[in-house]
Amino acid sequence: MVLQSTAQSKIIRMSTPNPATPPAHATKAAAAASEPVKPSNFLRQIIEHDLAAGTYATRRWAGSPGDAAHHAQGQPDPAKIRTRFPPEPNGYLHIGHAKSICLNFGLARDFGGVCHLRFDDTNPEKEKLEYVTTIMNSVRWLGFEWNGSPTATPYQASDYFDFMYRAAEYLIEAGHAYVDEQTVEQIRINRGDFGKPGVDSPFRARTPAENLARFREMRDGQHEDGAMVLRAKIDMASPNINLRDPAIYRIRRATHHNTGDKWCIYPMYTFAHPIEDALENITHSICTLEFEDQRPFYDWLMERLIEGGLLSSPPPHQYEFARLNLTYVVTSKRKLAQLVYDHKVKGWDDPRMPTIVGLRRRGYTPEAIQLFTERIGVTKSDSWIDYSTLEGCLRETLDVCAPRAMAVLDPVKLVLTNWDDVMGAGKLDDCSAPLHPHHPELGKRAFKIGKEVWIDRTDFEETPPKGFFRLFPGNKVRLKYGHVMECTGCTKDADGRVTEVQATLVPDTKSGTPGSDAVKVKGVITWVAVADGLPVEVRLYDRLFLEAQPDAGGKDFIEALNPNSLKVVTAFVEPSLASARADQKFQFERHGYFVADGVDHTKAKPVFNLAVGLEDSWGR
Ligand code: ATP
Ligand code: MG
Repeated sequence: MVLQSTAQSKIIRMSTPNPATPPAHATKAAAAASEPVKPSNFLRQIIEHDLAAGTYATRRWAGSPGDAAHHAQGQPDPAKIRTRFPPEPNGYLHIGHAKSICLNFGLARDFGGVCHLRFDDTNPEKEKLEYVTTIMNSVRWLGFEWNGSPTATPYQASDYFDFMYRAAEYLIEAGHAYVDEQTVEQIRINRGDFGKPGVDSPFRARTPAENLARFREMRDGQHEDGAMVLRAKIDMASPNINLRDPAIYRIRRATHHNTGDKWCIYPMYTFAHPIEDALENITHSICTLEFEDQRPFYDWLMERLIEGGLLSSPPPHQYEFARLNLTYVVTSKRKLAQLVYDHKVKGWDDPRMPTIVGLRRRGYTPEAIQLFTERIGVTKSDSWIDYSTLEGCLRETLDVCAPRAMAVLDPVKLVLTNWDDVMGAGKLDDCSAPLHPHHPELGKRAFKIGKEVWIDRTDFEETPPKGFFRLFPGNKVRLKYGHVMECTGCTKDADGRVTEVQATLVPDTKSGTPGSDAVKVKGVITWVAVADGLPVEVRLYDRLFLEAQPDAGGKDFIEALNPNSLKVVTAFVEPSLASARADQKFQFERHGYFVADGVDHTKAKPVFNLAVGLEDSWGR
């Protein structure tokens, strides 16, 4: 791990295992063995402790979410722990959510528990069905199933609105909540601040009967939006401002995608969330650090509702971990939506996007993302993870399985001028190469060599710089899996741009034939024969942002966009790629890992995306 200090904040870069050591993980099993077995973290320790102490052993589960009476009729909960992933369906999931998904589902899996997928849809305006569908697909694609069965429907917080309303009435009747008719501004001023205690609202001393009547009027639509709110009655002098009578219900005339126009009052997130957890029998409610200050209210609310007999005991407990910040991207649904709607990218699944659908289209696999979330671990202090850590995980997981192929991304023609004399006019020679260097059992790929081959422009220099071992006049190199040849010169156009390179074939040097290595060369280049090379579109992606922390400190992240984050080229690839399927990944030798685009790739018009280069070229 390399720690890099920047002006803004610490960036953590976790190196992949030393590439100089032999590939320790030529197989999946070996890969697993080379990783520490499930590195422990504070959450695992808490769960281990709870299991040993039997903290949740007495809980009952009635087969579906519900209140104390409902669960009392059930069996002892077969799930040793329950965790949840509670997205708001207001956008596409991103790599930060992947961390939370892998964490919550992973803990449930490892400790004999169940992880719930719950749509936190208490905010009526922003949510859409499109988002519900993509979120379910993304969780499934990452390799997880929710609510204990492959066919379960996710839970949704809006199904609990009736209970939440009942809980609010209970709090009012028990003297723990009141309807406040101060303006938003008055409430804000009277809340005080860190140095100043709050001031009681003039409505705070109302009787439960008065409050109940008022609250029912709110529910029945007798008051304007924003005219009043229901507040928990806790402590206006609390050092924790979140305990200074937080609002728990507001009036909001909005049609909800699940409950329609049934409600014109909606619960606040801080009130709804603990209740959702409790109804679902969640044991460990894991959220990001910014909710730490909410935990006392979470606990307060649980205690009150257990006291009132509405919820079963013991209640869920909230734990906080550091959210993932990843360099060179933004991880906020709102900011990602801005990129999409302002057409800065081509959609939520643009391969430059850090969304799960974007990463997938870029060539990321669930294994790579899982490895990443395990490698970065879980901590309680905020930091930024360097993007190269994510790329390293992709490289590592693809290296062991991606078939190899040759590709020429910036083609220039190489003519073997003595081919007709040595090999015979018009003749094509058969070549082959292993599909994977460490997996001979996967077989071989076949291609031709002929008088004309495509090579990469950068593999030729008319006047070689020091240390350049590839093509320059007078130098011998090997065409990988083919013959040795000696460069003789080049042809240029009026602008001085090389249009053709010439060389002569050195006889009896074909790879794999006896004596072929008698001629020693320092350079080996990749190539594709003109005769059987396949023209394909290749999309070369680069970082979406030029700055490591594009939105740090409230900066306008749009200004940091990389104008050259996409370059489209026509490349030539080996004929074996004619059968590539959409989503299939390859290593283009010497170039990097590529994926047949999941949307645009067809047999007739192949499209490959650059997933990641062979070596880390960033952050050095
Ligand atoms: P965004 O700001 O992108 O909308 P959010 O936190 O509002 O994110 P939710 O849909 O509420 O999005 O998040 C669902 C879960 O994912 C929450 O439990 C949240 O803690 C977690 N989560 C969101 N972003 C990250 C992140 N960057 N790192 C880790 N967990 C995250
Ligand atoms: Mg949110």
